[in-house]
Amino acid sequence: MAEICLLGTGGMLPLPDRFLTSLYAEYNGKAVLIDCGEGTQVAVAKHGLKMSRIELILITHCHADHVTGLPGLLLSAGNSSRTAPLEIAAPESCIPVIENLMSVCGGLPYEVKLRALSDDRQSEFTADMIDPMLTVKTMPLSHRVSCLGYSLVLRKKPVFLPQNAKAMNIPVEFWKRLHNGETVTLEGGLRIPPEAVTGEKKPPLKITYVTDTLPVPELELFAMDADLFVCEGMYGLSDKKASMNEKCHMLMQDACNIAKLADAKKLWLTHYSPAEKEPHVYEDELREIFPETVVSDDGISITL
Ligand SMILES: [Zn+2]
Ligand SMILES: [Zn+2]
Repeated sequence: MAEICLLGTGGMLPLPDRFLTSLYAEYNGKAVLIDCGEGTQVAVAKHGLKMSRIELILITHCHADHVTGLPGLLLSAGNSSRTAPLEIAAPESCIPVIENLMSVCGGLPYEVKLRALSDDRQSEFTADMIDPMLTVKTMPLSHRVSCLGYSLVLRKKPVFLPQNAKAMNIPVEFWKRLHNGETVTLEGGLRIPPEAVTGEKKPPLKITYVTDTLPVPELELFAMDADLFVCEGMYGLSDKKASMNEKCHMLMQDACNIAKLADAKKLWLTHYSPAEKEPHVYEDELREIFPETVVSDDGISITL
């Protein structure tokens, strides 16, 4: 089970009652953080979450509202006596900016590993530091600078059937590997596929996070069947569409349309403009497009 918390819902700049958009996802005591704008470490503490559990930070792009919280957060982790390495993954073109931001930290008591992700094509990697069953998938978005959308895909193990293993005289030391999806070879050469001792396959858990982009058609597939789709909605007024699209952002209505096409189970809107004081007033209209729309507030959380 994963615990998900949207630390903030603001875009551009933090407000006294609205932190910048950042997602915290914890699984088995280890957490992924997506985006780290100014004040993110305060939001982590405010919502009762543990900075020490963050093992991986994914950065969408190098605009200030998504990245300038890194030095403070890294320093705080060091002050909390962290010694284990921490990984930051970001679009390739962002890496020099992140290195510059880290230069103000003045030496951290742990290693920060940087992973450069392709700016212009989809990619994926296994997030071993969290769990070998967790895959991070990326999609290049359409913003004013290189920007990536992320999907966290957590494969779920099928049920293990010990009665099958016993009936086939498979020694217990092989059970864990089989449950992890490995084919094993017994003494004497007999090969056992994992399907022989496991139940039905379960669909993976999928969380998709997309912000700062035009509503490009590829998003439909990228967010397909997401259990939770977290997406920007800078404004709720339809007459802002032209100016939003000019600035390579999208409206709340655009996000709802993508969620509908992608058949997502739930949509959390975020990254509101500081000028959008009352995002909740659009709720009814938005739910007509996609009924499972949530106009999120800071600190909204869910267990999936
Ligand atoms: Zn932004
Ligand atoms: Zn941006």
